[in-house]
Amino acid sequence: MKTQLHTEWTIKDICEGFFYNDNEGKGVFGMNGKLTIQPEYQRNYIYADGKKDVAVIKSVLKGYPLGLIYFNKREDGQLEVLDGQQRITSLGRFILSKFAIELDGMQHYFRGISKDKQDKILNTKLLIYECEGIEDEIREWFETINIAGIPLNRQEVLNAIYSGSFVTLAKEEFSNSQNTNINKWSSYISGVVNRQDYLQCALNWVSKGNIRNYMSMHRRDDNINELKTYFNSIIDWVDGLFDDPHSEMKNIDWGKLYETYHKQPYNKTEINKKVSELYADEYVKNKKGIFEYVLGGCKDSKLLEIRIFEERDKKTVYERQKKEAEEKGISNCPLCAIGNDNNQKHIWKITEMDADHVTAWSKGGSTDINNCQMLCKTHNKAKGNI
Ligand SMILES: [Zn+2]
Repeated sequence: MKTQLHTEWTIKDICEGFFYNDNEGKGVFGMNGKLTIQPEYQRNYIYADGKKDVAVIKSVLKGYPLGLIYFNKREDGQLEVLDGQQRITSLGRFILSKFAIELDGMQHYFRGISKDKQDKILNTKLLIYECEGIEDEIREWFETINIAGIPLNRQEVLNAIYSGSFVTLAKEEFSNSQNTNINKWSSYISGVVNRQDYLQCALNWVSKGNIRNYMSMHRRDDNINELKTYFNSIIDWVDGLFDDPHSEMKNIDWGKLYETYHKQPYNKTEINKKVSELYADEYVKNKKGIFEYVLGGCKDSKLLEIRIFEERDKKTVYERQKKEAEEKGISNCPLCAIGNDNNQKHIWKITEMDADHVTAWSKGGSTDINNCQMLCKTHNKAKGNI
């Protein structure tokens, strides 16, 4: 990969012929058309908040460095901004007097500030790395430099690397805040549309976790049918099974559960009744696990992280069992006491025992002192199932 550090280009050079598209919220061109500021795959301009954009201008006026900016030189000679489009767009918009900054308690547009301040901005030199190379190199480099400003997140980086017809179509569907389906999706997926969270989720599901390969393979596709159909099947499946969306449903890997359970028939009334019961059960610590637990036929109670017995309750029960055992001359583990081996009369230390639900939790037994017994570790393990 060839890289070149430019230190002589001024803000004026970069913003020459700057063009901003108000409709799309994008800075489009600079350097008299030679520089593409926000290529298709980049996210929109998000600095226009009267704070971040103003901070860029104030930094320049104070002589603070703006940090490194990275350009990518394409085969046709055109330059593209890889990192720095928010800063450059802020500079360009200010020079076009699209927003004002506060100086000495007054709001000023570029056209209204003193000539020397205007010159200070225009003549400030920027630090710009220009790079030219094959796609793999650019990709590696791009991932390495993604450290400044508001960093691109993982999916935004992938969108940049695999930009093309597929990403464009996928973003129209999954990264479009105007899409009316988002309301429904947001019951089952958490995240922010314009930070690509829904797109990432859809890709993750269809690719079974291998987003990068999937994007690379479909990069030149002119449709997103598979992605869309698969995603909708999952959402429709969940949406059809459960009555009320609970907030915990947002962070579940529905793709995985769909793959495991979607062919299984369910009694909708029953599973929803079970979900309500478990939500009301104060011993269920992991509410998120309820859905997988119910779909799996209420067997794997580990998913629910049932609350364990309190230490002081265990101690009370231990002392009581020990006293009774010593009076009767039998083991303080009730299962050892009815056995035939050497442990029949053995008194275990508390550290050698574990608490057990007398009536199993899965059969409705509660996790309080009245349903607690201490068993030696071996018997507790053998009894298993809580
Ligand atoms: Zn025992």
